[in-house]
Amino acid sequence: MIPIIRPDLTFDEVADELKAVIDSGWLTTGPKVVEFEMMIAERVGVRHAIATTSATTALHLVLAAAGIGAGDEVLVSDFSFPASANAIVQTGAVPVFVDCRPGAFDLDPEDASAKVTARTKAIMPVHPFGMPADIKALVALGEKHGLLVVEDAACAIGGARDGIACGGGPGAGCFSFHPRKLITTGEGGAVTTDDDTLAARMRLLRSHGGQTGPAVGLEFVENGYNYRMSEVQAVLGLAQMRRLDAILADRRATAARYRERLAGVNGIAMPQFDIPGEGTFQSFVILLDDGIDRDGLVKHLRADGVETTLGTYAQHAHPAFARFGYQPGDLPHSWRAQRQSLTLPLLPRMAEEQIEIVTHVLVGALNADCHR
Ligand SMILES: *Cc1c(COP(=O)(O)O)cnc(C)c1O
Repeated sequence: MIPIIRPDLTFDEVADELKAVIDSGWLTTGPKVVEFEMMIAERVGVRHAIATTSATTALHLVLAAAGIGAGDEVLVSDFSFPASANAIVQTGAVPVFVDCRPGAFDLDPEDASAKVTARTKAIMPVHPFGMPADIKALVALGEKHGLLVVEDAACAIGGARDGIACGGGPGAGCFSFHPRKLITTGEGGAVTTDDDTLAARMRLLRSHGGQTGPAVGLEFVENGYNYRMSEVQAVLGLAQMRRLDAILADRRATAARYRERLAGVNGIAMPQFDIPGEGTFQSFVILLDDGIDRDGLVKHLRADGVETTLGTYAQHAHPAFARFGYQPGDLPHSWRAQRQSLTLPLLPRMAEEQIEIVTHVLVGALNADCHR
């Protein structure tokens, strides 16, 4: 079976550093996490990176530190992983789903504009599958309405557009180091920002809201969380961050080979190449014509040894968000993308013959029985 993704990490490259950390006896947030944060901040071109337990907690931490809560609304890319809207719900604010552009996966600025109200406090655009969103346009929209721009850059470490790194816009960016992402710490995440006040509050809230006071122990000045990354996780992340350029070059090269092989195949579109900038290709996601039965295709491919899945989710269409007044299909482009998107395997140093197997099996299945 050819899987969808595999971490680009070996035990040998972390063995010595891991041994040193474990033997040191200091396993929670410490010098390795600080080193990891500095590498991320430098890469993203901002002053602060704050490592967390996941992108989900990173998103929640930004919103909480920005004081977003009950009575507020946050605009969010509908076609994305439900962690983003859940982070909004956890603050007490209301997620307002924004459709993607037709035939593409990125947030539609016009739909976003139309949904701004007096209660809107922030906009949370995703860089879908690591394809850089048009942050310049969204920042302009944010400035017009006084919104905090929180980039969901979960899949986008190392991506850039218009000279701005993903997660490096004004506001904050949130990254994921889940094993399905470009680099992994098992579970983990980070927030990046240039805002000193926001960064300080996030550091405080990340660790129980406690700070050193005049007396022994801590003084708890906020009701915080425990969103701290461990030293063990940071060691894994550091090893991959040092090789990030090679990891990105490898994924981009494989994506280009897919594009060559799939050029001209009827019934599929490769929208990631319509977006300018440097994508990361966390996933290689194609969009299938409406006549193609995507779920039938996934089963067919699995039987032929190729694992595929949907791109991601039309969040509004899921029961968890129905109470906010949505019916499946209310956001038509995102709804179509959930049903007609297909993620192809994209493995580290993917062999030419594996790419050939995937494309051969895919084309065979499209020609066979996978039509409605
Ligand atoms: C993976 C992902 C998340 C969640 O990341 P975790 O680190 O698993 O919490 C959020 N948003 C997007 C776009 C993702 O792809």
